[in-house]
Amino acid sequence: MRNVVGIDFGATNIKAGLVSPQGVILKRARTETIASQGKDKVISRIVTLARKLGQNDKVDVGVACPGPVDGKRGILFEPPNLPGWKEVHLKKELQKVLGSGVRIENDANMVLYGEWKFGAGQGTRNLLLLTLGTGIGSGLILDGRLYTGANGFAAELGHTVVDPRGPQCRCGARGCLESLAGAQALVSAAKRLIASGVKSVLARSRDEMTVRDIGAAAAMGDEVARAVLAKAGVYVGLAISNAVALLDVEMVIIGGGISRAGRFIMGPLKKTVSANLIDFRLRKLKIVRSRLGDDAGILGIAAYFRSQEA
Ligand SMILES: [Zn+2]
Repeated sequence: MRNVVGIDFGATNIKAGLVSPQGVILKRARTETIASQGKDKVISRIVTLARKLGQNDKVDVGVACPGPVDGKRGILFEPPNLPGWKEVHLKKELQKVLGSGVRIENDANMVLYGEWKFGAGQGTRNLLLLTLGTGIGSGLILDGRLYTGANGFAAELGHTVVDPRGPQCRCGARGCLESLAGAQALVSAAKRLIASGVKSVLARSRDEMTVRDIGAAAAMGDEVARAVLAKAGVYVGLAISNAVALLDVEMVIIGGGISRAGRFIMGPLKKTVSANLIDFRLRKLKIVRSRLGDDAGILGIAAYFRSQEA
């Protein structure tokens, strides 16, 4: 079997790796996306990375893209962080230039696929993954197969409503999980608590506060940071309870930048699931943190590419 170039195409960075059939990243390359320069420039950056890693041979390329994505037809439908990418036939465009096999898929699905094949989810047959970052992505393995749904849009847990009176979400609905537990929501919640007079070390980093700062502050015992993470954990826990009640998966993997806050989010999250999920004790549900970190998408799309060839 040949090596495949796996590309993790994000709104900020494009990360790529030449991946062996055993799931080892042999070579790496990355570049900034600079989405503001437009679609054609970004596509040419993807091509440059693929050629660099393939040493200009015709190498097969898998691209994990921001959703919504129709993987079967290879089309991207204007992801919120890539303005102007309206129905882009990315697979066709890349194939034309590279002259090799190309496959594109939703990035959260590919993070899940990587964790399933090589990371925390190995050996499971029914698995749900959530990535907690600026956006909240999710993916689903059901009965030992990636489940993408009727249109390729399955497992949008970040846009299920957990509070109908919650804030407006960028998708247009109100009180989606992402609008209450995404990175922006955490930063806003911390700022509100500080503005209301609660003392916090985060007051220093007000304008550039990130979820990384919030995680670090929580570890130091900061009251605001801990409260914000605990509240997010409750919302994520509610969404997981609803999803597992429907799907009865055996494991839930939590990844993304916010998951690095460790027990400060995982504790309240698990407590919420145990309190809300029907038959919790009978299910033996495992809720664990992701293992592959930033490599999951690259490894996932490379392995998925191969699985589709077989
Ligand atoms: Zn939404």
